[in-house]
Amino acid sequence: MKQNGTSSNIPSNGRTFTDIHKNGHYNDELVDELGDDHGTSSIDTPMRDDAFALDDDLKIDLIEEHFREIMNILGLDLTDDSLKGSPRRVAKMYVKEIFSGLNPANKPASTLFDNKFQYNEMLLEKDITVQTYCEHHFVPIIGRAHVAYISSGKVIGLSKLNRIVEYFCKRPQVQERLTVQIANELKRVLETEDVAVIIDAKHLCVSTRGIRDLNSTTITSSYSGKFEQEATRQELLRYVAQPSVGL
Ligand SMILES: [Zn+2]
Repeated sequence: MKQNGTSSNIPSNGRTFTDIHKNGHYNDELVDELGDDHGTSSIDTPMRDDAFALDDDLKIDLIEEHFREIMNILGLDLTDDSLKGSPRRVAKMYVKEIFSGLNPANKPASTLFDNKFQYNEMLLEKDITVQTYCEHHFVPIIGRAHVAYISSGKVIGLSKLNRIVEYFCKRPQVQERLTVQIANELKRVLETEDVAVIIDAKHLCVSTRGIRDLNSTTITSSYSGKFEQEATRQELLRYVAQPSVGL
């Protein structure tokens, strides 16, 4: 998590995020541009120091209140049976489900095992479901992650790879940051630099609004340690390109 506000002013197109608020007014054009750039200000999710001063129940109550206000402002009739439960539903979904990965208390514990089989080659888990939310528009980013590592003598359960991906997905995200956060966590847990992460994803903020491109996907990658060597990287990319076993 970000410790202070210093990294939020990295220039994008030569301007800073503070330009958005210049003279106390929002610069709508610049806000759109920064959102569409999908630039990120920091590898750590930008969090306030008091992020967990409120407990989950209070957060749900407050978000419910504010979301009701958003619906009111849009002119929706909250006495309608279909709509009246929405503010609380959205609040619970934000706190308990789709943004629960903001809280480090929800990070999956990863138990390391000795690599008893002496398997010292690459291990790749392909096609891990990615479902996260663009932090610029709060709409889904949906795709697949491929994560690989070469054991340093320790291994973790396969499903832990899924859980680590899932944990970092449960935050408002940009794909570049998500990729690096997963890679860093794998390096930390597996005690090795030999880690690779590739994410191929569709951004609903690109397909359902703005440019409305239904077909484009975005690929991001992080290669470190032995994966920086051309031969290892090519081996990984060959495996990723192979069709998966259909079961
Ligand atoms: Zn977006």
